[in-house]
Amino acid sequence: MGSVEVVRLEGVRKEYRRGDSRVVALDGVEVGFGAGSFTAIMGPSGSGKSTLLQCAAGLDRVDEGRVLLDGVPVHELSERALTVLRREQMGFVFQSFNLIPALTARQNVELPLRLAGRPLDAAVVERGLADVGLADRGGHRPAELSGGQQQRVAIARALVTRPKVLFADEPTGALDSRTAGDVLALLREVVHRHGQTVIMVTHDPVAASFAQRVLFLKDGAVTGELASPTAEGVALRMASLEASC
Ligand code: ADP
Repeated sequence: MGSVEVVRLEGVRKEYRRGDSRVVALDGVEVGFGAGSFTAIMGPSGSGKSTLLQCAAGLDRVDEGRVLLDGVPVHELSERALTVLRREQMGFVFQSFNLIPALTARQNVELPLRLAGRPLDAAVVERGLADVGLADRGGHRPAELSGGQQQRVAIARALVTRPKVLFADEPTGALDSRTAGDVLALLREVVHRHGQTVIMVTHDPVAASFAQRVLFLKDGAVTGELASPTAEGVALRMASLEASC
């Protein structure tokens, strides 16, 4: 039996208007993400990676097809229902960390609990900080932390509500390669512990090699995938995709 799919896109099509013309960003994407899996999405610039992430997270509406999160039809939900679903079931990590500068690391991690109206369980917040190796940094503001530490706070913040899915958009794009590796190894370990699913857009083959599977996009469609990827294998596949553009 295959693993349960937490996120599923079926026949997803997405177009953007650009002046008088239309750009097809996603062209019949059919893909599933199993519970507890860690998938990297790669492809040449403009191939639809960010659009796929945005549509999967319900941040953008699909023109055709279905997006299912644990069987819930995300594409049919109202904005209000989507907001609730995102707060409860999804976590987000971005290249630019997006921490609130005036708040301490601890207060940043607490924020999603406050927004979701959940009780502030101090033990949960401290465990979240400890999970990312920042047990002794809770009182620091972002400016007092390194880039890698800031991204680890962002990861703790994204995971504090125990979302089913973590969406990561170039999470290591602003980090040096060694720090990037440390952050991804830690991310992989934390989500594994809680059986969470990660969908990560990246253009870095080394970052992608931390995933269990890499999906390759070209011209808005999935053109292939690689299981148990190595950085070299991913780089080779990317080179051939870019050469055929
Ligand atoms: P990637 O993340 O792989 O670089 P994107 O998903 O950002 O690709 O973009 C896919 C295609 O859709 C590109 O041609 C891009 O120019 C177009 N696109 C993306 N977002 C918009 C938008 N908001 N308005 C118009 N065109 C867009």
